[in-house]
Amino acid sequence: MIKEMEAYAKENKVPIMLPDGIDYLCNYIKEHSIKNILEIGSAIGYSAIRMAMVNDYVMVTTIEKDEARYNEAVKNIHKCNLDKRINIILDDALNTKIDGEFDLIFIDASKGNNINFFKKYSANLSKYGIIITDNLFFHGLVKDESLIMTKNQRGIVRKIKEFITFLDENEDFSTEYISVGDGLSISKRK
Ligand code: SAH
Ligand code: MG
Repeated sequence: MIKEMEAYAKENKVPIMLPDGIDYLCNYIKEHSIKNILEIGSAIGYSAIRMAMVNDYVMVTTIEKDEARYNEAVKNIHKCNLDKRINIILDDALNTKIDGEFDLIFIDASKGNNINFFKKYSANLSKYGIIITDNLFFHGLVKDESLIMTKNQRGIVRKIKEFITFLDENEDFSTEYISVGDGLSISKRK
């Protein structure tokens, strides 16, 4: 099933996490005994399913705004028998009201909204919880701007840089950056 989802993502250009990025994330969940996860940006459910498969205690709440991808994710979650441990919500995560606390919040949605997601959902973070954000490298474009081809890409790179500044200057969280996959940030409360 995992292989099928990876093939589907490749064929349909769904930007799921890169192999070493998702491996790193799953390993982190295992090592830190993380149980409750909130994910922003489910796409077809790939990363939610991978995280839920770490062990039987993991519970994932995940939000996706695109209906076609949401439907695909629901199908995949069901096929993996994870309906009980993955709660997927069809909504724009900028507006969703989520109750409860999570040990891990994983932000992997529209890159321009990272600051908004971070601010909004830190209210749902448990005391020792962490926020991990994906795509800080944006395929190498953040480091090497000569690779930027479109105006849209330029806008996203600017937003990611703003997000990095926001993290570096944040008074409540300290952040480390990990060079796996497309670049991850790991933010903990100070
Ligand atoms: N985490 C997934 C990949 C997510 S791709 C994985 O690795 O398997 C990013 C997804 O975020 C896209 O499907 C996009 O539709 C969704 N998205 C973007 N902005 C969003 C928003 N404001 N609310 C909810 N989902 C959003
Ligand atoms: Mg991503």
